[in-house]
Order: sequence, then structure tokens, then C-alpha cells
Amino acid sequence: MIEDQYEYIREHNHAAQIANTIRLSRYFLTSILVVCLYIFCIYKFFSSTPAPYFSTWFFTTEIIVCLFWLVSTAHFKPGLYNLNHAHRWLQIQCFTVGCLVAIGIYILYNYLPTINPDFEEIHALTLSALLLIVTQSFSLTYLTQKLNYFCLTFLPSIIPFLFSQYFIQHDTNPLFSLALNFALIVILLCATTSYRINLRLSTTYARNQLLMKDAAQQVTWTDDLCKQLQDEINHSKDIELQLQLNNQLLEQKVRERTYDIEQMNKDLENQQENLVLAHEIAGLRPWDWNIKDRKIRITNHLYEKQVRDSKQHLEQLQHQIHPDDAEQLKLTLKLHLRGESERYEANYRIQNSEGKWTWVHDIGRVVERDPNTKKAIRMVGIRRDIQKEKMSQERIKLATSVLQQAAEGIFILDEELCYIDVNPYYEKLTGFSSNQILGKHLFDITANYKSQQRSAHYSVIKQLMNMNEFDGELNEKFLSGKELTLWMHINAITDEDHKVTHYIGIVSDLTERKLQEQRLSYLENYDTLTDLPNRFYYNYQLHKLLVTQRDSQFAIIRLNIDRFRPLNEYLNHNGGDELLRQVAQRLRLTNPEALFMAHLNGDDFAIVYEVSHLCPSVHDQCARINKAFGLPFNIAKQDHLITISMGVAFYPEHGRQLDYLNNCAEQALTEAKTLGGNTIRYYSKENTALLEQGIFLERDLRKAIQNNELMVYYQPKINFRDKNVCGFEALVRWNHAEKGIIPPNLFIPLAEQTSLISDIGRIVIQQTAKQIRQWKDMGFNNICVSVNIVAQQLRRGQLLEVLDDAMSLNQIEGQDLELEITESSLLENSEDVKNQLNEIKLRNINISLDDFGTGYSSLSYLADFPIDILKIDRSFVSKIGQNKQAAIVSAMIAMGKAMGMTVVAEGIETEQQLQYLQDLDCDIAQGYLFSKPLPEQEATEYLEQNTCASLIAT
Ligand code: C2E
Ligand code: MG
Ligand code: MG
Repeated sequence: MIEDQYEYIREHNHAAQIANTIRLSRYFLTSILVVCLYIFCIYKFFSSTPAPYFSTWFFTTEIIVCLFWLVSTAHFKPGLYNLNHAHRWLQIQCFTVGCLVAIGIYILYNYLPTINPDFEEIHALTLSALLLIVTQSFSLTYLTQKLNYFCLTFLPSIIPFLFSQYFIQHDTNPLFSLALNFALIVILLCATTSYRINLRLSTTYARNQLLMKDAAQQVTWTDDLCKQLQDEINHSKDIELQLQLNNQLLEQKVRERTYDIEQMNKDLENQQENLVLAHEIAGLRPWDWNIKDRKIRITNHLYEKQVRDSKQHLEQLQHQIHPDDAEQLKLTLKLHLRGESERYEANYRIQNSEGKWTWVHDIGRVVERDPNTKKAIRMVGIRRDIQKEKMSQERIKLATSVLQQAAEGIFILDEELCYIDVNPYYEKLTGFSSNQILGKHLFDITANYKSQQRSAHYSVIKQLMNMNEFDGELNEKFLSGKELTLWMHINAITDEDHKVTHYIGIVSDLTERKLQEQRLSYLENYDTLTDLPNRFYYNYQLHKLLVTQRDSQFAIIRLNIDRFRPLNEYLNHNGGDELLRQVAQRLRLTNPEALFMAHLNGDDFAIVYEVSHLCPSVHDQCARINKAFGLPFNIAKQDHLITISMGVAFYPEHGRQLDYLNNCAEQALTEAKTLGGNTIRYYSKENTALLEQGIFLERDLRKAIQNNELMVYYQPKINFRDKNVCGFEALVRWNHAEKGIIPPNLFIPLAEQTSLISDIGRIVIQQTAKQIRQWKDMGFNNICVSVNIVAQQLRRGQLLEVLDDAMSLNQIEGQDLELEITESSLLENSEDVKNQLNEIKLRNINISLDDFGTGYSSLSYLADFPIDILKIDRSFVSKIGQNKQAAIVSAMIAMGKAMGMTVVAEGIETEQQLQYLQDLDCDIAQGYLFSKPLPEQEATEYLEQNTCASLIAT
């Protein structure tokens, strides 16, 4: 490339030197013409001597130079000539001119002085030097493009001078020759320099040309490139547009695909969820065993996928499988892996996380085998928890066997109430085989000719239709001839829309049980001795009567044999029973109009009448009974006359409630008994203050105990000897929030029938003990307070504990207390009572026999029981003044004294009574004459006022 450039530059320089020299040679030739002409003219001007050679030279030179000028101008037009030709031409031209100038110099310098004497040497020197210098100067100016051309002109032109210097002797100043030579050398140096400058210029120009060419080339290339680039850009734009379009299409496609994929994904997810759900619901747990890689993908009990090492998994599984199932499972799996079975299927038990055995069903298949060895590579399967199925199978089996073996008739009906299945027991019950029953309507196998049966069947069907259930007793006569009492329970089975699809019936044969029940019911409800309803049945019947016949009027008569106990003891047990039987029989015979009668217990009977103008009056009925009892009873071949007491209450006059009415009748009876028996008492409202006031005793009394409404009043006991207060009797009162103070005889009898009496007793003992403590603290140390107790308290066995607690809590002694017990209490369960009383005695507590003389006093009791005090009942004291009664009192006191007992007379109201008793040496007096029972505060005041100071001190 660089060589090419040099070559180009060289060629360019060469061409440029030629071209420039051709162009400049015209000026050079013109200058030569002018110089020659000038010299010729000068010569002609100064000398008129003809010089033919000089003129010839002049004209020849002028002509040749002109010719050269013309040829150069005409022939060598820029760009139209051959370089070599031009170069030769210029060489010829330069050399020719040099030669012509040399000739001219020679003529001027050597010839002219010779021919023209006027023409001196100096002239010749001047003109020739002028020609030479001017020629050299113009050569220097115009021909130094190529040193060759300058030299071709310069060298011939100096020859004449050089020749003349050395070969021709002139008188010229040698300085001139030296100067000329120096000038020529300078000119040559200048020419060389000029040539170099020109050459450099030319080279530079050529380089520029090259550069320009290059630049042009570059521009062209750049243009081409730009064009190409533009084309490329356009093309790119097109492509971009195309791409954009494609992109959009692609995006659209991608979006569509994405949407499709999303939908598919969603569907897949849904399906996956459904599948998982289905698996969960069906209890399916898929597994995938990559036998080759020893990996197993299992679904755990939480339905999470897990990948495990299959060896490890199988080892773990072995531990979890029931030992009885492990071998079979192994064998099944081995056979399948060997390809000996179509698929692997096994049921086995596995131990769950709670340690319980659960049945699972495993099913699977080898899905990939080694093509060469046929060894299993991959196996997939599903494990399913079949515990519930197993259980339900078991249940179904059980249910079937229950159905088959049940000792109850079971049948299944369709929605039309037609039999679709029956169990063997039902066949046995009905007397039909299942073939005879199936397809028939529920009651098609029973006899329906009686309207009663038809209506019973109708009501069963109606109830089934309305309630989807029937539960009840039926007396059925089957067409097979069997007659049974059945308990039938039919239940409708409904589908999801609550539509009845089936009915299931369970039939129990009640025939035998009914008979037994009747027997039992008799035993339960009747007294076997008298064949009369017992208390329970009496209450039941009376209640039924009161409920069903509210508008009727009834009389309730309670009867009691007077003094039955001693008679019973006398007649002994069998005799007593016989007596009761006969009494019952007589009652039955004398009361045909009675609604019912009952033997309540012991010698207690009850009769219920309807009161209406159609029936004899109750009074007549009672009179009739009384009259009937006027005849003797023959027992053990002995005639016995007995009397009875009767208490009568009326419904609704005396009350509407069963208990209330019973209470009323009982109260009337008690009154009759109190009056000595053999009498009829009608219930009187005066005695029922509480009931009248609407106080429902038991309930309200319980509340009263809880609310601390019970309080103790104290009635003073006075010592006959010193007239001092020696003690008190604690008497309970019910301080009712609305009704005020309620006396004990209104609630104690009821409390005695319930456990309430024990609670009341406990409260009284506690309050009393507390009061004694207070009095003791006040200095009344010898005050003994008596508390009333009843047999129940003794029987219950808590009394001792209550007493101990009260004494220890209040730090009082046994001698500060006294217990009053009635004769009737001693009679009941006497052994127990005796033991209890002995225990009480061990505590130094005195025991007094209350209301002495009113009960069935058997004097033997007085000796048998540890009794310290006799309390003569106020009914005797009140009758002091009447001869016989006074005698009884004095006998009682004498007897008590004789037995070493302290005798207390209660109910002393008059001085006369007091005096009488004092005369009989009675020990202690109690009665309104001294004081009524007093509340705590007043009792304390009474004590303070009526006790000697000396006594207080002791
Ligand atoms: P009771 O043990 O024979 O008590 C004597 C009763 O005679 C008391 O009646 C007393 O107020 C009354 N009384 C005393 N002096 C006279 C008098 O001069 N004239 C008249 N007309 N009556 C007099 P109260 O307090 O109504 O008690 C009646 C019965 O209630 C008591 O007879 C007793 O059997 C029983 N009772 C009282 N408090 C209790 C108790 O805390 N527990 C038990 N189980 N029964 C109690
Ligand atoms: Mg008493
Ligand atoms: Mg009494």
C-alpha cells in the first residue's frame, strides 16, 4: 500500500513536473525571447556594426524558441499528451535552449569583440553575463520542476564561460570570473533547493491528492455505508415492525395460551383439590414406589405427599403391621413383584399413631419392568383406610345376627306399610312364616273385625303418618290364632329430603310381662292381708279422682281401731292379722257405695265416698259403719268387741289437694282419738290455721329452717320447794315473715313425718346450748333446760352427735340439759331407743317422760327405760278438782316418787292446782300460772327477777 503510494507520488511528481514545466516553459521561452531581443536591441543600439553570426543566432534562436512555444502550447494541452513524449520534448527543448544560449554567449563574448572593436570586452562580458544570468535566473524560476531540465539548460549555457576561463585568455578581471563562478554555484544550489521545494510541493500535492482521493473514496464509502446503513435501518425498521407485529401476535397468542394454561391450571388445581378431597373422603392414600431408585412417594395420614427411602419405609411398615397379617402381605407382594399375579391386593391391620389397629386395603400394580430381566422397576398403588367399612361390615353382620337372633320381633316395612323383611322372632310371634307375611300390609295379618282393633290400627297408622313414629301397646289377635299383648315401636326411616322410605318396627311380647305386672301391681297396690288397696294405691286413686272429677264432692273417711296395739299384743300376731282381715271384710260389706277403700297401714283404714243427694249422707254412712262394728269379731273362737275412731274431711270444702285432704282427715281422726276414740270427728277448720293461711307446710318449713326463722322460747320451771326457777323447757316457734309466730303443734306433727324434725331438733339443741352458756356466763349455773325430742331423732342416730357438738361448742355439761320424750316415742323400735337413751344418760343428761298419762302407758316402760323425770300431762292437771282425775294425778306422783323420779306437773294455771300439787309433794311446776313460754330476752329477765341472789352466786 505504502509502496503503491510512493509509486503514485513518484508518478504524480513526474507527471506534475512535466505538466508544470510544460506550462512554465512557455514563460521561460517568452523570457528567453525577450532577453535575446533585449540583448540584440542593446547591441544594435550601441553598435551599428553588423554581426551576421550574431543576427543569425538571434533570429534562429527567436524562431526556434517561438516554435518551441507554439508546439508546447498547441500540442501539449494539459491532460492530452503522452508523458514520455512530453518529457523528451522538454529535455530537447531545454537542451536546445541551453545550447542556443551557450551559442549566444559565445557569440557575444568571443565573436562580437572580434568583429566589432567598439564592442569592448566589458560590453561583451556584460551582455554575455546578462544573457547567462537572465537565462539561469529564468531557468531557476521555471525549470527547476525537474533538475534534469534545469541542468539541460544550465550546463550547456555555462560551457562557453567555463571554456573561455580556462582556454581563452581575457583581460577581464579575475574577480569577475570568481564572482560569476560563485554566482553559478549559488544558482545551481538555488536550483537544487528550488527543485526540492517544488518536489516537496508536488509530493505534498500528490499526497493531498491521494488524501483527497482517499477522502473522496472514504466519503463515497461512507455514503455507501450510510446508504447501506439507511437501507439496513429501513430494513431493520421493517423487521422491527414485522417483529412488533409478530410480537403482538405472539403476545396475543401467549396471552391466550396463558389464559388457557391458567384455566387448565385452575381446572387441574380444582381437579387436584377434588382428587385430594375425593381421596380424603374415600380415605385413599396413593403411593408410588420407585423400586430401582429405592424411593417411595407416599401420602401420609394428613394427606401430605412425602418421599421416603423405600427400604426404611418397608422396615417401618413391618413394625406397624399386625403380626397375623405380616406374612400374608409379604407373600402377596412377592408374588406380584415376581409377576405371578395380575395385581397386588391385600387387607391388613396397621397400628395407628394412637397404638390402635386399623384395617387398611392396599391395592397396586407394577407399572414398569426391566425389559431384559423383567424385574419390577416401579410400582404404584393406593392405600385405603377400611376401618369404618370393616366396622360397618361387622356392624351389618352384627345387625343381621341381631335381627336373626333378637328376642324381639323386628320387621321392616316399605313406605306403603307393607312388610319387606321380618326376623324369625316376629314369625314366631305372629305364627306366620316370612313368606306369608312379606308383601302384606302391616295389619293384614291381624284380625280386624272388632271395631276396637280397627280404631287402634287406625290410630297407629295416623300417628305414623303424622309423627313418623309410633310407640305403644297393642292387644293383637293374629289371623294365625295367636293373641298377644305387644309393645310396638315403629320408626320411620327418611331419605335426605325427609321423605319416608321405610319403617322399622320392634315388637316386644308383653303378654307374659303383663300377667306378671298384673300380679306385681296387685302386690304393689294391694294389701295382701286384707285384699284392700294399700296406701300407695289409695293415694293414686284418690289423686286420679281429684284430677278427673273436679266438680264432684267427696268425703274422705279415715278409720282407726281403738286401742289396737294392746289388743294386737293380746291376740298375738296371727290374731291381729285375722282381726284386720275381718275389719276389712266388714268395711267392704257395709260400704257398697264407697268409691274405694284402703288399708293404709297397721290399723288405719280409709274410705272415699262420693257426696251426692243420691247417696246416703256421710253421717249415715259413718253411723252404719259404727253400727256394723257394734257386732263382735270372732277371733280364735273368741268374740271381741272393738270400737273405731273416724275422721272425716270433705272435698272440695276442706281442700282440693290430696295431701291436704289426707291431712285434714287425719287431723280429724287424731282429734277423735284424743277424745277417747269410738267417735266420729269431722274436720274443723279451726285446727288448720296454717293450711288456711296458705302455708304449705313442708316446703315453707324447709325454707324457714334455711332462713333461720325458727326460734326457741323458754317456759320457766319452778321448784315447788323454794319457788325458784330451776330450769326451762325449750319450746320451738316458727317466726313466719308474714304470719308471725306459728306454734309448734301446727308444724311439729308434719315435721315428724319427714326428716325435718331432726333439723328442727338440732336447731333447738344448738340454740338452747348457746342460751345456757349465756345464762352460765351471767352466773346462773344451776339452770337445767329441757328440750323436746321425738322417736325419729333417736332412730336417726344423729342426736348424740348434735348433743356432743352443742355441749363442747358452748362448754356446757350434760347436767345442764334435759331431754323430753313422749311415751309413743318409746314404743317405736324400743330396743334402739333404749340404747340411745342409755348413751344419752352416759353424758349425764336427764331424760323426762313427757305428756305422761296420755299415751298407751305401759308402766313397764318406766322401769325399762332410763327415765329420771315424769311430766304429768296438762290434761290431768287441768282436771284437778274433779275427784277421779285428782286421784289419777296423785297416783302418778306417788308412782314417780316411788320409782325415784322427779315429778313435773305441766300446765298449772291456777293457784288451786298449784296448791294441790304441792300438797302431793310434786317437785317442779310448769304452767301459765308462772309464765308462758318466753323469748330469750324475756326469759333472761324472768330468770333475773325470779332467782335469789344467793342462788346466782352458787
Ligand atoms: P309439751 O312438750 O308438752 O310442751 C308443753 C306445752 O304446753 C307447750 O305448748 C306449753 O306452752 C303448753 N303449756 C305450758 N303451760 C301451760 C298452761 O298453763 N296452760 C296451757 N294451756 N298450756 C300450757 P307448746 O309450746 O305449744 O308446745 C306444744 C308441743 O309441741 C309441746 O308439748 C311439744 O310436744 C311440742 N314441741 C314444742 N317444741 C318442740 C321441739 O322443739 N321439739 C319437739 N319435738 N317438739 C316440740
Ligand atoms: Mg315437753
Ligand atoms: Mg308436755
